[in-house]
Amino acid sequence: MARAFIGFGGNIGDTRQLITDAIVCLALRCELQILAKSCFYQSAPVEALGGDYINAVIEIETLLSPYGLLYVCQAVEQEFGRERPYTNAPRTLDLDILSFEGIHQEDSELTLPHPRITERSFVLLPLLEIAPDFFLPHLGELKDYLPQVAHQRIEKLPCRNCNCGEKAISSQSTH
Ligand code: ADP
Ligand code: MG
Repeated sequence: MARAFIGFGGNIGDTRQLITDAIVCLALRCELQILAKSCFYQSAPVEALGGDYINAVIEIETLLSPYGLLYVCQAVEQEFGRERPYTNAPRTLDLDILSFEGIHQEDSELTLPHPRITERSFVLLPLLEIAPDFFLPHLGELKDYLPQVAHQRIEKLPCRNCNCGEKAISSQSTH
């Protein structure tokens, strides 16, 4: 089994609901199991157009190959009406593979770990919420990159169903 992290983002429609539904779609697939899900975060667009984004990250384990997982993510994006009119366009739902085991590859169809994993607060904060000591071979401790993204506006949203969003960013969350 390989362990991977998937980042979700969107800024068109009810993104929180779309991400929730997309996670259910993934959970129903027998090729992967969801191990953890971060809270939702609201972030300012970075080099992108449109309004604020909603983001979340999940941790999975899977028997799929990295490309197998990419095609599953792209199928889910399509299912949720993803269109790509131009680079960095506003989007209903974006699924990015943030890391897949410790694999390091530069293929433009699938770059691992995701090339902007250390540069975006909307990736680092939800990822570190569910994996506080996350370490990658070529990058080291991800928490060491937090100061570099401290200027990027982001807010952790309270959970609608419980108070998990108010806990310190240290424990695993399943909401
Ligand atoms: P964005 O880079 O803003 O997420 P897209 O979702 O349109 O834009 O993705 C553009 C391309 O990035 C896709 O065709 C996909 O093959 C490629 N790609 C490269 N690495 C990854 C990755 N780690 N996760 C998801 N897509 C990736
Ligand atoms: Mg993408």
